[in-house]
Amino acid sequence: MSRIAENLIQVRQKLALNAQSAQRAASEITLLAVSKTRPSKDLRDAYLCGQRDFGENYLQEGLDKIADLNDLDICWHFIGPIQSNKTKPIAEHFTWVHTVDRFKVAQRLSNQRSDSLPPLNVCIQVNISEEESKSGCLPDALASLAAEINQLPNLCLRGLMAIPKATHDAREQHVVFAKMKALQLELQATYPQLDTLSMGMSGDMDAAIAEGATIVRIGTAIFGQRPTQPKQ
Ligand SMILES: *Cc1c(COP(=O)(O)O)cnc(C)c1O
Repeated sequence: MSRIAENLIQVRQKLALNAQSAQRAASEITLLAVSKTRPSKDLRDAYLCGQRDFGENYLQEGLDKIADLNDLDICWHFIGPIQSNKTKPIAEHFTWVHTVDRFKVAQRLSNQRSDSLPPLNVCIQVNISEEESKSGCLPDALASLAAEINQLPNLCLRGLMAIPKATHDAREQHVVFAKMKALQLELQATYPQLDTLSMGMSGDMDAAIAEGATIVRIGTAIFGQRPTQPKQ
């Protein structure tokens, strides 16, 4: 069995155990394989082991893999920072976008999404740790951004996403993810279709699932350590 197949099995087991401890159904949590910097053959390997959702951070790299792997039934998620002049290929080639944090980008994605495709599923990225240099909408601005995005015809607002400040302290991880859950609950009062919380990576998946993550974004634990300098 390949290294990637072994890793995937372990990650799935861990996800199932985390779900069980949280008294949640594992089936309500999607494992998103974060494949940035990985060659297409690694994704194919994971696909053969049953993986269907893949997340890419860098647009050109993602588009190259989408072309390479167009014989596979993959659900592609864009999870990287979005430049507003590069929204068109995202709108055309991805099924999900997790990193919408301003109206301008949302509006362009909606305008550029073909009417022949189902609406693009989007999450609003929240700067939950309120870090100055980080992308993401601040919690205070969330309600008004959600209201604007909800009006856009070719987007389906599905939920919230966060990349909290990295910490090994499990308690801190829980606190931040619980804040995300609270924000989701608040918004659900107005938008009941908001079923998604994209949070949790290789180092904090346990806490994220305990606090309600519905998509965990896992790279290293599936594909191994990335080269230290990411591409682009
Ligand atoms: C790289 C990345 C991940 C995966 O991180 P790992 O620690 O490798 O699991 C998840 N989400 C985003 C937005 C990323 O950029």
